[in-house]
Amino acid sequence: MTESQTQYVGLLGWPLDHSLSPVMHNAAFEALDLNWRYLAMPVRPDQLAPAVHGLAALGFRGANITIPHKQAVLPFIDWVSPDAQEIGAVNTLVIENPPDLQSHVCCRGYNTDVPGFLQALRWAGYDPAQEHGQAVVVGAGGSARAVCRALLDSGIRHLIVLNRSLEHAHQMTDGLKTTATITVLPLTNEILVETTRKSSLLVHTTPLGTWPRTDQSIWPEGTPMPGNLFVFDLVYNPVETHLLEHARRSGARAINGLEMLIRQGSLSFELWTGHKPPLEVMRRACQEKLNHRG
Ligand code: NDP
Repeated sequence: MTESQTQYVGLLGWPLDHSLSPVMHNAAFEALDLNWRYLAMPVRPDQLAPAVHGLAALGFRGANITIPHKQAVLPFIDWVSPDAQEIGAVNTLVIENPPDLQSHVCCRGYNTDVPGFLQALRWAGYDPAQEHGQAVVVGAGGSARAVCRALLDSGIRHLIVLNRSLEHAHQMTDGLKTTATITVLPLTNEILVETTRKSSLLVHTTPLGTWPRTDQSIWPEGTPMPGNLFVFDLVYNPVETHLLEHARRSGARAINGLEMLIRQGSLSFELWTGHKPPLEVMRRACQEKLNHRG
């Protein structure tokens, strides 16, 4: 294949200092001998519209969208999947650029965080449909929207959302279609400890504990965590946050955000290329990059 036939995809976000997505996708393309390249493309918030239109004009096959563009990108897309429309966040663009001049370029938006989170949760041994449980989600940002949609789709009957801003939490839950019960409460140590005691799952979706501020945690120091809890921390750098360390010491099952990153990426990969993603290759590439960072 010649250089001119190389197919391009990439990541739009701001800033993009520590993304694992380029190494993960490029390793997958190489493993399947696909002449594709994944580029990291930092895009300032005020340049998002020209950037998306520019991708289509340059013949890109698609892109991932990350903080802070997941919600802002919606007006620039021709078609948005029902899931992504409902939660108001897109993390994957698929661009069809037909060679005949009569057909228009079409940009479609998806949210692979929703199935990516669920796949990772089940992979780690927690099946919401089996547990019939109550879940606590901490945070109400873009990732929390995907997590809540996934949990409601998978059989959770009572969802408790704890957030610093109650207004943001209500904005998020008001748009969720469900027959399950949703309770919104302020994020305080007492409420967190009390609600998790009656729950089987705790999902942490705020950036607290992410490198370099690794000393931060939502869980109060010195308070035991219920041993029957399953803890999912969306943070993956460091691989063990204080929250996960706490869970491990309490005997609770726990998983970091790396598998979710891999699963959402693998679903984007399949949407772009039509090929089954090489999960083990993608996992290894991410782990090597994280180890290399120390
Ligand atoms: P957003 O900026 O959309 O949301 C951030 C949320 O965190 C808000 O609810 C905010 O509360 C809360 N928050 C921020 N700072 C604090 C604080 N100091 N104390 C308490 N709450 C706080 O971010 P995202 O939802 O997009 O991402 C959140 C995290 O999840 C990031 O670390 C990101 O890397 C990770 N992530 C991981 C993924 C994976 O695949 N593993 C996928 C997507 C995200 P408030 O509403 O009050 O402002």
